[in-house]
Parts: sequence; structure tokens; C-alpha cells
Amino acid sequence: MILADNGGMEIAALVGEFVEKYRGGAAPLVEVGDVVLRGVAETVDGQVDAGLVGEVVEILFATMRAAPGVGVAAPQVGIPLRVAVLGDPAPVTEEVAVARARRPLAEFAIVNPAYEADGDEVGFYEGCLSMPGYQAVVRRPESVIATYEDLDGVRHTERLSGWPARIFQHETDHLSGAIYIDKAVTRSITTNANLQKWWSQPTPAEASQALGFTLP
Ligand code: ZN
Repeated sequence: MILADNGGMEIAALVGEFVEKYRGGAAPLVEVGDVVLRGVAETVDGQVDAGLVGEVVEILFATMRAAPGVGVAAPQVGIPLRVAVLGDPAPVTEEVAVARARRPLAEFAIVNPAYEADGDEVGFYEGCLSMPGYQAVVRRPESVIATYEDLDGVRHTERLSGWPARIFQHETDHLSGAIYIDKAVTRSITTNANLQKWWSQPTPAEASQALGFTLP
């Protein structure tokens, strides 16, 4: 079995080195094929100094804004810790916003997140910064009960729905080594260019008919 190549380094030392290197800016994104994206990230339980976790979060925010993206999980910058950031300015038309329940989401960090389905599944195109160039339809619960800690260690439980629920699920899945393509409807896969050209409708209904896949 191949294990993540951290050179045998403890997570605290790995995080310390990472923060030294990228403090004040963005970090390079790890792409699919790297074992760090397929491992189970460590629960944050005091093994890494809280101040360092906060600095990782700042680097994740900078990385998300630079990409730009609507979420980044720590494994995507090579850090196997259960930490991610989310935030969505939702630069879409009103028609798209309504169809996808995509409204602006203020930036926030999630530590040790988990979710439970709390609604019927819906299918929409999504992509991943670790797998650039493509998008595919993923069926996910439209709503979830999301739990996470903030940077002060306070536990939160919230019901999320629509696009924020989708982002929360996508980022939390990264922390257990899952990438959206694992759950995607493979016949829906499209390059970004073809998505723009043909499948930018508010919902993937036309794509499902033309490409031959079913939606929930
Ligand atoms: Zn992703």
C-alpha cells in the first residue's frame, strides 16, 4: 500500500512548514492523482496549534479567491487536516440563481465538518479545482444538516440548502478522500469549453436528453 508521502513528517511539522512558506498568499493547488486527495484527513484535535490552523485557513481563503473558486479543502493544498473554506459571490444571472438556489454565501471556515442528507437529490454540473478543465453532473441532497467547528472550536449545526449545501458537501467529501467525479454521472462529463458552448442552461435538463443520462 502506498501512503501519503509527507517524508514521515508529523502533521504539526508539516503544517508549520506550509505556513512558513505560503503565509500572506495563496498556495499551489494539488491535482487529482496525488495521494493526499485520496487519504482520510486528520481530525483537528489540538495536535496542531490553533494559531497555525488559523493561518492555514487564511492561506486557503487566498487560494480560493485566486483560483477563483467557491471552496477549497486543506488536502487540496497538500495538508491532510479536516479543514476547508467556503464562500460564493454567486456571479450568475437571476434565472440561474433561482434554478440552482445559488445565492451569495459569505466566506467562512469549517473545521471537522460532517453532513447528513435532509432532502431529495438534485443534479447539477459541478467541477473541482483539483481536476481543472472538466465538469460533470453530481446528484446530491438539495439540503443537508451540516455540522462543523469554527476557528474558536465552537460547534455549529445548520441546515443548508441549494448551492451552499452543494459546496459544503463537495468540500467535506474531500476530507474523506472523495472527489466529485466519484459521485458524478459519468455520461454528463464535459470540458469547460463545451459546457460554455452548449450546456450553460440553468439546469442540466437539455444536457441529460442530448448526452443520454438521467437526472433525479
Ligand atoms: Zn474539489
